Amino acid sequence: MDTFKSKITQKTELTHNVLELKIEKPQDFTFDAGQFIQVVIEQDGKEVLRSYSISSTPDKDHIGLCVKLLDNGLGSNVFKTCREGDEIKFKKANGKFIVQNTNNDLFFIATGAGLAPIMSMIENELKKGSEKQLHLLFGVQHETDIFWQERLKNLAQNHNNFTYDITLSKPEDSWKGLGGRVSAHIPEEVSNSDFYLCGSPAMVTDVRKILIDNGKDVKDIHFEVF
Ligand SMILES: Cc1cc2nc3c(=O)[nH]c(=O)nc-3n(C[C@H](O)[C@H](O)[C@H](O)COP(=O)(O)OP(=O)(O)OC[C@H]3O[C@@H](n4cnc5c(N)ncnc54)[C@H](O)[C@@H]3O)c2cc1C
Repeated sequence: MDTFKSKITQKTELTHNVLELKIEKPQDFTFDAGQFIQVVIEQDGKEVLRSYSISSTPDKDHIGLCVKLLDNGLGSNVFKTCREGDEIKFKKANGKFIVQNTNNDLFFIATGAGLAPIMSMIENELKKGSEKQLHLLFGVQHETDIFWQERLKNLAQNHNNFTYDITLSKPEDSWKGLGGRVSAHIPEEVSNSDFYLCGSPAMVTDVRKILIDNGKDVKDIHFEVF
């Protein structure tokens, strides 16, 4: 089946402009960690599609989405006004942004809602019992833009092979963590890791260039652009 109909079971505000949605997973719906769905939106009698990466892992009974709300965005408005219990229509999962089978460690870089597919990949790898080193570099502007901090903290506490850093590009004076864009925190030694990037086109372009300059082969740099 190519189009699914299901129910929104949970809607949570993660920050002032990011929502998390949980959708009941239809029995015949399958996906790989890192893939996205296309949500079908009715507009003027036509069907319009908007892509959203799945933030949950394939073993769960729900499909998690993490949606950044844009002013006057078509999809954004649908999610802003939707309620738990509402029906949602979407196409089957798609996309090639999935963890590749290599012996390298995994270095993930996400900005904003770009954390959605990367969260799914990280949790899925850890659930599978991967013995690779996994590191996440997560960038947002302000401290109030950070989400899933507890989820990340719990993962790091429960898995010795997972670490993460959060960097703020516009930190308040009280912030004690890393500052600057993610591009300011790319390691020079990149030979042992595969890189997975997700976020704005500008971030992906900048970080890819740094990684290539540092000697990383393009085939080991995987990315999804929102
Ligand atoms: C593979 C993939 C995965 C993705 N995953 C995610 C995800 O997990 N989470 C997420 O949040 N997003 C994700 N996106 C982005 C998402 O698909 C949408 O593009 C995004 O949410 C904006 O859609 P929208 O309908 O809200 O805005 P749109 O209606 O497409 O509008 C985009 C922007 O343009 C402005 N705009 C619209 N019309 C006009 C106009 N006439 N004049 C001036 N400005 C205008 C809007 O205000 C808005 O700011 C993904 C995209 C891809 C390709």
